[in-house]
Amino acid sequence: MRGKLVVGNWKMHGGLRQNDALFADLRNGWAPAEGRRLAVCVPFPYLWQAQAALSGSAIAWGAQNISEHATGAFTGEVSAAMVAEFGCRYVIVGHSERRTLFAESDAVVAAKAAAAMAAGLTPIVCVGESLQEREAGSTEAVVSRQLDAVVARVGRRIAETVLAYEPVWAIGTGLTASPDQAQAVHALLRARLHSVDAGAADAPVLYGGSVKADNARALFACPDVDGGLVGGASLKAGEFLEIASA
Ligand code: PEP
Repeated sequence: MRGKLVVGNWKMHGGLRQNDALFADLRNGWAPAEGRRLAVCVPFPYLWQAQAALSGSAIAWGAQNISEHATGAFTGEVSAAMVAEFGCRYVIVGHSERRTLFAESDAVVAAKAAAAMAAGLTPIVCVGESLQEREAGSTEAVVSRQLDAVVARVGRRIAETVLAYEPVWAIGTGLTASPDQAQAVHALLRARLHSVDAGAADAPVLYGGSVKADNARALFACPDVDGGLVGGASLKAGEFLEIASA
C-alpha cells in the first residue's frame, strides 16, 4: 500500500527512562491521518517496552535486524518469530551498517527478508550505493543487484515488503540526496518492482539518509518517494513528528 510511511530507526540508542518519554511524546503527538503511517524500529531489549507503550495507538513498531535462521545453535542471534511475539509489524533488513560493519551479503539479506515474511513481519529492505559507487556511475547496478537478490528469494511476494533507498553517503552524514537524485533511484526501483509483478509496483519505497524536518517535505513530494526511514532525527519526538507530517 502506498501513501506515506515514516519509520524511525533508533539504531543502538535508548534507555528505559528516555524511551518512556519518547514513546509518550510520540503517542500524544501523533495525529493519524488518512494515508499516513508511523513506526519506530527499536533495539531488541526495548521491544516489550514499545509494545507496552504503543499498543492501541496508531504507531507501529519493529526491530532493526533478525537472524536468517528460524531456530538453532546461533548464540546471540534473535529469530523473526521471537520478534513477532512482541507485536512487531516491521523489521529492517540489509541496513548499510549491517552490510558493511557485519559483512551481510545480498544473499543473507534476502534470507532475512524471507525469514521475516515467514514469521508474518514486513521486512523493510534497505538498498543503497556508497559514495565510491555513485562516483563510479554504478548506483543503478548496485541497487538493482541488491533488490534482485531479494526478488530471487521471495519472488512476487516482494509486493509485501517495504523498500528503503538509503544512499550510504547520506546516512548519518548530514548529506542528503537531492529530491532529483532520490526520485531517479526510486523510479528505477519502482520500474524493477513492476517488472516482477504489476502489483509489486505499489510496494512503498522509502528514502533514508539524513532526513530532517527541513528537507522531508521536498523529498516526500517526489512522485516515487513514499516516505522515509529516519535515523538520528527519529530520536527527537518533535522533529520526528514534523517529518511524519511532511
Ligand atoms: C538510517 O539509520 O537508516 C538513517 C537514514 O540514518 P540518518 O537519518 O541518521 O541518516
